[in-house]
Amino acid sequence: MWFSNYKLLEKKKLTNDVYEMIFSDWNKTSNKPGQFMTFMLPKTWFGRAYSICETSNDKYIFIIKRVENGRWWSIEITDLEIWSELKAVWPSGHFILKENNKAKIFFATWVGLAPLYNQLQSIYDSWLKYKTKLIFWLKNKEDLFYIDKFEKLKEKIDFEYKIYLSKENDVNFEYWHITNFITKENIDWFEEFYICWNNMMMDECISKLENLWFSRENIHNEKF
Ligand SMILES: Cc1cc2nc3c(=O)[nH]c(=O)nc-3n(C[C@H](O)[C@H](O)[C@H](O)COP(=O)(O)OP(=O)(O)OC[C@H]3O[C@@H](n4cnc5c(N)ncnc54)[C@H](O)[C@@H]3O)c2cc1C
Repeated sequence: MWFSNYKLLEKKKLTNDVYEMIFSDWNKTSNKPGQFMTFMLPKTWFGRAYSICETSNDKYIFIIKRVENGRWWSIEITDLEIWSELKAVWPSGHFILKENNKAKIFFATWVGLAPLYNQLQSIYDSWLKYKTKLIFWLKNKEDLFYIDKFEKLKEKIDFEYKIYLSKENDVNFEYWHITNFITKENIDWFEEFYICWNNMMMDECISKLENLWFSRENIHNEKF
């Protein structure tokens, strides 16, 4: 296991509880699309994993949600001052974009978008031309972020996206949960599935896909 120090260069509040945090990668550790890094708590040395959302010129960009009723790490990391330095394990994990030409669909809820966006970024950077689609779930319109980035993806790759809001009914968005999207007609075009979020949502997605005869080997998932 390899550790390095990473310095917090920028921090931006994207919504009420989601922060974009940019750390230096001066050691030039490289990542595969979809991997995470494990940051160590400065005092206790407990680790917490955060998926790399984007990479840019020796920087790693993360999107981190403050979980108010958790064990405090998400609060501690989002409270960090600029120029703070954290020790982290180099990028690791097996939730990696497959190198093939299969049409891919990505199911993300909230900051579960991070590894999927990193995978879409790698498709964008390599000009790959197969069909891609993102299904993104949030609660309300005020929780939305990165729409400008989704629009940019459309300029270069075969990409579409659909947003589901579960607590707000608005004509411009789909209502309720992204698992509603999983019907034979909607997913017939796609050959590979990438899903990221919690156990419950993941299990529901996977069982719906399997009921539609999608083979488990084409369903890739990361649980937060
Ligand atoms: C591989 C991997 C990648 C991850 N990548 C990210 C990431 O890119 N961004 C990110 O914000 N978190 C990510 N997480 C979650 C992160 O590691 C922490 O669990 C999270 O920040 C909460 O830590 P905590 O100590 O505040 O609360 P904890 O005590 O760890 O968690 C409290 C409760 O909140 C749930 N929870 C965990 N993460 C979230 C979340 N994001 N939103 C709502 N509920 C949550 C937990 O399941 C638990 O029930 C990732 C986890 C894993 C395993």
